[in-house]
Amino acid sequence: MLPRLRSKNPLDVLLVNPPASAGTVVDRQGASGLGAILTQRHARPLPPLALVQVAANARAVGLSVGALDLTRSPARRLESVLGRVGVVVGVLVSQKTLTMDLDFIRSLRARLGVEKVLPFGISTWFHADELRGPNGQGVVLVGEPENKFGRAALYLAGRASAPPPGLLLTSDQPRGHLEDLLVENLDDLPTPAWELLGRRWKTLSIYASRGCDDRSRACPHSVAQGAQLRGRSAVSVIAEIRSLERRLGTRHFVFLDPAFATDPDRTLELCRMLQARRSRSTWSCSSRPEHLPADLIGCMADAGCREIRIELESLDPQLLHHFGRIEDVRDVDFFRERVEIFVKTALRLGIHPQVTVVDGLPGQIHGDVDATARFARALGVRRIRYSHHAHYAALHQSNGTSTL
Ligand code: SF4
Repeated sequence: MLPRLRSKNPLDVLLVNPPASAGTVVDRQGASGLGAILTQRHARPLPPLALVQVAANARAVGLSVGALDLTRSPARRLESVLGRVGVVVGVLVSQKTLTMDLDFIRSLRARLGVEKVLPFGISTWFHADELRGPNGQGVVLVGEPENKFGRAALYLAGRASAPPPGLLLTSDQPRGHLEDLLVENLDDLPTPAWELLGRRWKTLSIYASRGCDDRSRACPHSVAQGAQLRGRSAVSVIAEIRSLERRLGTRHFVFLDPAFATDPDRTLELCRMLQARRSRSTWSCSSRPEHLPADLIGCMADAGCREIRIELESLDPQLLHHFGRIEDVRDVDFFRERVEIFVKTALRLGIHPQVTVVDGLPGQIHGDVDATARFARALGVRRIRYSHHAHYAALHQSNGTSTL
């Protein structure tokens, strides 16, 4: 099922997830769009949700759109399509992949002209100057692109009289405040156009909310998505799930919300509505153990939740305090207890608890990773993921200070 790209029809817009450099696995959707280079064996990147959300937005304003995920398809596919693009090639970028993204954009601009290549993705705000190119001539779309890419393409095509906020056209144009460039009402976004990537998807990513007001230190999610929770209505989440089940046969949904259960009332409402559907689809999410009391986990299980991921940076009271996970070092026992309640309840209710243990944290003492993993294993956790603490320049740029 490759609807547009297999035909010879002209396209207004082509959206591209660029290829990774040799030997690397990249995930531009990771860390809420700041991106990740995956190092774990068998690691698989998230499908590029931002790309297909932008595609849906461009289609909604009447543009013909194609999409290519060159992390999964051979690069030669780009050659067969480029000549058919009339208005603009949108390139998804991320902070962690910036060097390879800049190479890709440079070569496209050399072939197509600077005005015909439009980098997008939340990371553009942090790197607008590099993305404009050496002479500052390139155009860039900064901020969340899912509600403005279509209008940007219309403007570039001369079919709209004013550019949308965030479309940077000249080198001296200020990028504005990131919080002013986020999507205000997530319910306004159309259902992502996954079908443009040309396959059926048994598992797909989805958001029920963005942003997080928990303000943990050094958190890329609240920097990229804003320090304010923006929730979607349960009705709109379920409409998207229903549409993807029907059109693409999707049966498992991975909620990408940084902290899915942070607002218990919203979570309960969504779970009740999911349960009422009596669908056989299942889902997974990430949250913090403090957000997951036993009764809420029960509702999540009844609503089809099969995996909950938590990040357990450490059990070292100093580190937990430093990262804002506990207010006082004396709260460490309470924190451990929350983790224990979460794991035991999840296991009892048939939900897999997945625990991510992080190494390379600033100030982490030798043996901390093993001790943390041992603690999780002793509780019965079978899915332990090891991750290396990633440094994001965005954490410094957002507030002008070093957080570590
Ligand atoms: S709860 Fe999670 S997503 Fe929210 S600020 Fe803390 S670490 Fe980030």
